[in-house]
Amino acid sequence: MYIGRFAPSPSGPLHFGSLVAALGSYFQAKSHAGKWLVRIEDIDPPREVEGASSLILKALETYQLHWDDKVLYQSHRLDAYQDQIDQWLIDGHAYLCECTRKQIKADGGFYLGTCRQKQLKDASQCAVRLTMQHPIESFTDQRYGTLTIPEALAKEDFIIKRRDGLFAYNLAVVLDDIYQGVTEVVRGADLIEPTGRQISLYKTLGHKPLRYLHLPLAIDDSGNKLSKQNHATAIDLSNPRPTLLNAMRFLGFTIDDSILNADIESIVQWGVENWHLLQLPDELKIKPPFSNDAL
Ligand code: GLU
Repeated sequence: MYIGRFAPSPSGPLHFGSLVAALGSYFQAKSHAGKWLVRIEDIDPPREVEGASSLILKALETYQLHWDDKVLYQSHRLDAYQDQIDQWLIDGHAYLCECTRKQIKADGGFYLGTCRQKQLKDASQCAVRLTMQHPIESFTDQRYGTLTIPEALAKEDFIIKRRDGLFAYNLAVVLDDIYQGVTEVVRGADLIEPTGRQISLYKTLGHKPLRYLHLPLAIDDSGNKLSKQNHATAIDLSNPRPTLLNAMRFLGFTIDDSILNADIESIVQWGVENWHLLQLPDELKIKPPFSNDAL
């Protein structure tokens, strides 16, 4: 069975870019008669905004994107992340590192494995890094074909737990996608680079990597991702139809006149029935075909 997911971080309310990711993953799952799960990625408290999780869930309900099963909160999974790290520290698939950001910058910006052989023991003073044994420099995307990742990035022993005790996104996302039985990851093109590291983690775990589909990213006139700093305001919950139709146009739909005035549920259902990967724009970064004001 197809199992897809939408995995927002509660760093703010749902904005246009995250609605695009929610819709794309929903259409892809439901057009495969699959399940669509929601996972709240709340493992980085300093970046979280109070109340954002419930606002995100409310927005999904307003846009008639109903999830299957119970919402999974990453903050409830910390023991599982720690258990995996402990195992890898014993097996040598991970090691403790005491290097500062400043030192790494002085070495050229990429970590050179300085602490690999040091056998550091005091976890409270250290970050944990993966011993990179499976560097991934490219992978196949379901729509965009072969996507490449810079070699230095692919080869780096990256951090799986930070010195401040927070677990890294790449580790949590992979362990949870496996835990939830996800079969395909559909998300924004801003997450192409981390995909290489995530596939490296699957290989370290001896688990078959998932299928990946990346969705075009909405950018502004200067080529920057729409974010909270630049226009990515919360989507409209009182009048969702225009925003929904714009997000669907962004995903390459040519909206039928017959559904322009339909209710939200029928528009989403129409989207499920008419969704094809080839409709997605050829470019992975695009300016929305309408003004930012409409976002
Ligand atoms: N939580 C991540 C974000 O909001 C997305 C994770 C993923 O889809 O893999 O950017």
